[in-house]
Amino acid sequence: MLKGAFPIDSFKGRKTPFYFYDMDLLQRTLEEIKLQAGRFPGFRVHYAVKANSNPEILRVIAEAGLGADCVSGGEVAAAYAAGFPPDTIVFAGVGKTDEDILLGLRLGISRFNVESEAELEVIDSLAKEAGKVAPVSIRVNPDIGAHTHANITTGLAENKFGIFHEELENVLRKVLRMEHVSFCGLHFHIGSQILDMADFVALCNRVNEITAKLKRCSLPVGDINVGGGLGINYQHPNHLDIADFKSYFETFARHLELEQGQTVHFEPGRSVVAPCGTLISRVLYVKKGVTRQFAILDAGMTELIRPALYNAYHRVENLSSSEEEELYDVVGPICESSDVFGKGLSIDRCHRGDFIAIRSVGAYGECMASRYNLRPLAESVFYRK
Ligand SMILES: *Cc1c(COP(=O)(O)O)cnc(C)c1O
Repeated sequence: MLKGAFPIDSFKGRKTPFYFYDMDLLQRTLEEIKLQAGRFPGFRVHYAVKANSNPEILRVIAEAGLGADCVSGGEVAAAYAAGFPPDTIVFAGVGKTDEDILLGLRLGISRFNVESEAELEVIDSLAKEAGKVAPVSIRVNPDIGAHTHANITTGLAENKFGIFHEELENVLRKVLRMEHVSFCGLHFHIGSQILDMADFVALCNRVNEITAKLKRCSLPVGDINVGGGLGINYQHPNHLDIADFKSYFETFARHLELEQGQTVHFEPGRSVVAPCGTLISRVLYVKKGVTRQFAILDAGMTELIRPALYNAYHRVENLSSSEEEELYDVVGPICESSDVFGKGLSIDRCHRGDFIAIRSVGAYGECMASRYNLRPLAESVFYRK
């Protein structure tokens, strides 16, 4: 959304900060995903609920016909409540509790993406007690590093996620002997905010190696879940407002060696919802330092923790001013020195009360909010033209 397109008059009576969701953009994004994935018959898309679990956002995504990828019992329950059919819900996570597993069994979810042998044994025994057979995929740690921030890389060997690929055959033989789990496929996820398609090509190559090896040992492969991770353009939210789903799905179609009828599952989170969300806040104070000046906002790391946590960049715009740009350290009100949205950002001259837009916060924004400093949780506004 261009700066001038924000319905700023409707902001005037509102308490700031709040999350502003451009629901038209979300709708266009979902249509693009369906169009691009739909070109390849076996491709299935499950939205990664952890990126944004706001009930209205979930409802719209469920209505568009995507499945859900969950990483906790709470997310499984939220996805189910929002209307995702259980047979489109997949459930990963290294620390599933007994309660989480029982919920999944009761609802009849499509898949438990199992991350350790210990978890597998617990699922088998809980399924036995419940008189059920749990559908499982094995999450494989492919030992591939995506070129992204160390904290959001999940596919390296020294990492808590998944089963190391060299141990896969033994674990798979064990799964096949269990009576209350049925083996359905392999699951991978290499990280987040991946923009270089070469990282996904590397994943495809590793998947091909692993499946070829399993076949040589006469072991089943099942379906393939390649996880999420497609990145968005945080620098230019106005020009590139939908992620490159075309290249993304084409990359997997071109590089994965599939069997007839084998399905491929995708779990995009950020790329679905990040661009449609904006954090709207007001300037509380402009403070002049010796060599720099600060724009102190009423939003902080409690509403958007990504800059503090990952040193992430979000574009900041002053919606109320079109005066000459100046350099500001844009900061929040929280008592932490990491509560900074950006240092030396060039934005239109700020005054007390100006509306400031922090862009591309639809993913890992609202869902990571906290009440630190006893701040109230910010509201959300769903905008349709
Ligand atoms: C976080 C996560 C995703 C979504 O990642 P994005 O980078 O938001 O696309 C998908 N699958 C799993 C297993 C995850 O943990």
